[in-house]
Amino acid sequence: MLQALTFLGLWALVYAVLLLVYFTVGWALLRINRRYPERQIHGLNGRDRRSRMSAGEEIRQSLKALAATAFCTAGGLYMQHLGWTQTPLAMTPVSLLWTFAVAVVLQDAWLYFQHRLMHMKPLYRRFHRRHHLSVAPSVWSNNAFTVTDAFLIQAFFLVLPFILPIPPLALIGMRLFDEVRGLIGHAGHEHFAGRLARAPWPFIAVLHHEQHHQYFDVNFGNQFSFWDRICGTLHPSYDRLVMALEKGVAPADLRAEPAKSAEHSA
Ligand SMILES: [Zn+2]
Ligand SMILES: [Zn+2]
Repeated sequence: MLQALTFLGLWALVYAVLLLVYFTVGWALLRINRRYPERQIHGLNGRDRRSRMSAGEEIRQSLKALAATAFCTAGGLYMQHLGWTQTPLAMTPVSLLWTFAVAVVLQDAWLYFQHRLMHMKPLYRRFHRRHHLSVAPSVWSNNAFTVTDAFLIQAFFLVLPFILPIPPLALIGMRLFDEVRGLIGHAGHEHFAGRLARAPWPFIAVLHHEQHHQYFDVNFGNQFSFWDRICGTLHPSYDRLVMALEKGVAPADLRAEPAKSAEHSA
């Protein structure tokens, strides 16, 4: 009984923190992006479609999905606490850094293949289509998933402590990083596209996930383009557009280019 109450308290705490991050970072990003309308990247390649979910609907859906994702983070931490997982390493700067880095790489693989699975027709219609109603995503789209989809994405945090002796602080840091990174990735504005975000480097720009929402069956990765490059799912224009943005071409000027799409209808 006490254990159940402790877990419920932890779940509620994680949920409250995630809501705080979602609303405060989301609001801050909106304010920053409003000051730089020329960095807006919706409609690059000539496709400028409107989302079929309003901000209000996205936020309402996110409130449900975040409860599921909070369950996963709290569950991972609580199982560590009970000693069911690998024994976490002592907390040192070195152990925090290397376990965090390994967790980011592992999570990217988890998300890539989970995401590919969710794009298979029967699963897509039931679980993942809702996220794609946000064709031109905003910060509020970051958690606009069905509860099942959100749970399967974030179940990574239930599994992670079993495969990596990650200190709890690194696990919490990893989840917060994931949330902030996702909010930036859905914000629809490109401020820092640089050479690290294109071949031969594995990192990605905001454009990467923006193209996933625009073209549907490309760019499934989350933190890196590694799996997209290996599996041939990177949008053909991605590297070229990042290179143009990196050289200072404004997104507005790239919008005039003709569409090259590998899309099938969502
Ligand atoms: Zn998708
Ligand atoms: Zn998305």
